[in-house]
Amino acid sequence: MTEWMLSESEGYDLLSKYGIPTPKYRIVTRAEDAGSAAEAIGFPVVMKIISPDIVHKSDAGGVIVGIGTKESAQSAFNQIVANARAYNQNADIHGVIVENQAAPGLELIIGGKTDPTFGKVITFGIGGTLVELMKDVTLRILPIDEDEIRKMVTDIDSYPLITGYRGSKPKDEECLIQIIKNVCKMFEDQKDLREFDINPIRLYDSGACAVDARIIMD
Ligand code: ADP
Ligand code: MG
Repeated sequence: MTEWMLSESEGYDLLSKYGIPTPKYRIVTRAEDAGSAAEAIGFPVVMKIISPDIVHKSDAGGVIVGIGTKESAQSAFNQIVANARAYNQNADIHGVIVENQAAPGLELIIGGKTDPTFGKVITFGIGGTLVELMKDVTLRILPIDEDEIRKMVTDIDSYPLITGYRGSKPKDEECLIQIIKNVCKMFEDQKDLREFDINPIRLYDSGACAVDARIIMD
């Protein structure tokens, strides 16, 4: 059983098929092409390394956000590739993904894994860089119905961040529920899908956008 990881763009394509919003993107393999790719997407953009050997892209200096001009897109390309090489000189580098920068939002994680005893398990919680720190996640064994998904969302300690806390507006909980439902459908449909993390998905007053996808297939 050999496992393999989808690239971020392949991950986005799979999520899109299940109605999960993802950034517009282009893939470039030369610095000269980064500016026009960024322009085609619309500024600001985020650029990230594409390498099967680099799982945690920011640890490798492989993520640059807030790129606002063609020139900075070109230099970001060179910087990202140089950082990735310095991080792991043997890394196989496939290029750089240029994607539209999603608005700030509440960063959540939706994950899945295949447990030898329980089978497919879905996790949900606070995401982004806080995920290890907070360990505020809930877990369910598939299949689950919508009621159970609702409970899963209300179960996290940080649930007040979703309903609106100290003056922050309530987030789009209904959208989140539908997204988790779609993620569960994806996980159940895709027989070869072993494990994944959508970390983070940004949740807004209205709508949401996944801004990273790590998907492992068998
Ligand atoms: P890593 O592999 O390190 O997890 P990510 O793709 O998650 O890399 O990027 C790191 C962080 O950069 C994310 O947690 C998010 O806050 C921010 N980020 C990544 N992509 C985007 C995007 N398209 N729009 C806005 N912010 C982004
Ligand atoms: Mg991430």
